[in-house]
Amino acid sequence: MPIDARYDPSNVFARILRGEIPSERVYEDADFVAFRDIEPAAPVHIILVPRGQPPTSPATISEADTDWIGRMVHAATRIAAAQGLAERGYRLVLNCGDDAGQTVGHLHLHILGGRALGPVA
Ligand code: 5GP
Repeated sequence: MPIDARYDPSNVFARILRGEIPSERVYEDADFVAFRDIEPAAPVHIILVPRGQPPTSPATISEADTDWIGRMVHAATRIAAAQGLAERGYRLVLNCGDDAGQTVGHLHLHILGGRALGPVA
């Protein structure tokens, strides 16, 4: 999807957060929710999203977002460890815009692991 700073509350992750679309949640706290990707690209493929209406993509974050983004990355490492990925490693991915294949305009972090993932692109 093209990068657009305007948040669309009907996006699929907003609907998952509202419980309108079922998901297999693996983690949640006051700020974040993590659930399994519906089309996993690896044996473990989890999407970690902020609650509320976050920036639509990495390109639309601002200085004010840096604290919670740090906490989101920290949460991702805890989730990866809980999924048994800490020993062999894993990949954290933030897609941004069309060339990265971003399809959902709600900032999200992919947690991928469970096999050797190969080159980044
Ligand atoms: P993006 O390409 O925007 O970085 O990642 C969006 C991800 O959301 C994709 O990996 C896609 O498989 C996943 N996804 C799309 N729709 C759904 C859904 O309804 N449920 C779940 N659990 N994942 C979804």
